[in-house]
Amino acid sequence: MNSQKITMANGKLNVPDNPVIPFIEGDGIGPDVWIASQMVMDAAVEKTYGGKRKIAWKEILAGEKAFNQTGEWLPAESMDIAREYLISIKGPLTTPVGGGIRSLNVAMRQELDLYVCLRPVKWYNGVPSPVVHPENVNFVIFRENTEDIYAGIEFASGTPEAKKLLDFLTNELGAGKNIRFPETSAFGIKPVSKEGSERLIRAAILYAIENRLPSVSLVHKGNIMKFTEGGFKTWGYELAEREFGDRVYTWGQWENAKKTQGEDAANAKLKQEAAAGKVIINDVIADNFLQQILLAPQDYSVIATLNLNGDYISDSAAASVGGIGISPGANINYLTGHAVFEATHGTAPRFANTNTMNPSSLLLSGVMMLEYMGWQEAAENIEQALAAAIMSKKVTVDFYKLMSDATLLKTSEFAEEIINNLK
Ligand code: NAD
Repeated sequence: MNSQKITMANGKLNVPDNPVIPFIEGDGIGPDVWIASQMVMDAAVEKTYGGKRKIAWKEILAGEKAFNQTGEWLPAESMDIAREYLISIKGPLTTPVGGGIRSLNVAMRQELDLYVCLRPVKWYNGVPSPVVHPENVNFVIFRENTEDIYAGIEFASGTPEAKKLLDFLTNELGAGKNIRFPETSAFGIKPVSKEGSERLIRAAILYAIENRLPSVSLVHKGNIMKFTEGGFKTWGYELAEREFGDRVYTWGQWENAKKTQGEDAANAKLKQEAAAGKVIINDVIADNFLQQILLAPQDYSVIATLNLNGDYISDSAAASVGGIGISPGANINYLTGHAVFEATHGTAPRFANTNTMNPSSLLLSGVMMLEYMGWQEAAENIEQALAAAIMSKKVTVDFYKLMSDATLLKTSEFAEEIINNLK
């Protein structure tokens, strides 16, 4: 079979039957979980499509392996390959201590302008969970990935830059009085733009429409940060009504109906619009949202949020369905098609080469990748096979410790169990 590149034309991905997909195996436990995930993906694609489709994996170097071989943590060649082939998948990478790169993950997100961090949060029957009804948890988080306080614009306490900024804030903007201890303050800047917010929220609404999901919730702290987080909310509502008019029903429209027709009539209208298949666009303040996903997770379906909120929410939500060992993630630019699918956990260096860790996070990232490629059948096959392994309590050590009467499997044995469960 001739391997070919995945390409993007007119906003649509073109995926050949034998696509080249670059992978980074990752540091620490990366190689263990990568080998297991690759085995399962290959077996699933082979079995699902009867040999008609096959991924041509192409290794690219990053992290410690790259540093040891080339002296660079993220060689330019690796980025070039990731850019050229559009879709790649990676295990966890060590964050280099010192040196020019803050984080390899952040560097890749910025280089490829991967503005959506996509984190599905879903419970698989039998996975140990700290909440009483984990079966009610099933939502997808769209976290903005390029702006906010993560832009890296920070000035340390006592530096000439901090002093200069303080002078500017005091003398030019009259904001000095808001700074409690000016002489020792460090400063961080939080850029949040209309375009940046809109492209993220647009992707979330499109996802809800395409997947027939009931709502998109804009999660923000606009009550305190009125222009940054408040802007995100306002721009989101405006975009929803402007670009998706007859396919959405917004909270603002509900409020108008309440004013003119009373609350009962407004609620009836909301129900009617939802029943007609419109996506309900609402908003929730971030702190309230964090309690709501514990109290009433069934009320949420697609979440669109800013970078920092999204960071906290993703890991907290992941904990309610079994933690980072099983939570997948992806970083996507829907306009260029670029996407990097990745494990959400780190390198857990203490467990490197022990063949004991849970490969589910990376494997489910692979499932997301197959869905993104339009290979839904293979994705579903892996999901049911993984769910069956967990249901039969044949699991890796992290779940084993929290289950009774479970069978302990090594990483590679867990992969074999999943392969045996493929249909
Ligand atoms: P970590 O996620 O590597 O490990 C924390 C703990 O979680 C581990 O000790 C282990 O008990 C558990 N764990 C993690 N992955 C697991 C798995 N697949 N199965 C079962 N249990 C698992 O977090 P850390 O120790 O804070 O970070 C270690 C290194 O990883 C650091 O260099 C950090 O910067 C890096 N990191 C990378 C990524 C990434 O590449 N996406 C993400 C987070 C951390």
